[in-house]
Amino acid sequence: MSEHDATRRRFLMQTAAAASALPLLATMVTRPAQAALPPLPLSNAQAKALNYVEDASTVKNPMFKAGSDCANCQFFTADTGACAIFPGFSVHPKGWCSGWALKKP
Ligand code: SF4
Repeated sequence: MSEHDATRRRFLMQTAAAASALPLLATMVTRPAQAALPPLPLSNAQAKALNYVEDASTVKNPMFKAGSDCANCQFFTADTGACAIFPGFSVHPKGWCSGWALKKP
């Protein structure tokens, strides 16, 4: 085998190894933002105090305004599902709590 063949073989093997690792790398890049925050447990004391629910369509609270949910609340961050009222947890975009405030444009 010539030096050229050995170099070419090494290049092809490294390229194949790099290509096979791409899906794993893509997962590692996107997953932390999605999985970084655990969902807010309904049993959480503050969630209970603010009447948090995961489905705004079930709310019977007199403070509820039609059409309001976490997705249009000023405390919600869509990229992570984070809510400023419940640090360390994610909330459901269709959820609601009595801390809801309309997101400003
Ligand atoms: S403060 Fe807003 S984003 Fe947070 S749980 Fe309540 S309604 Fe949802």
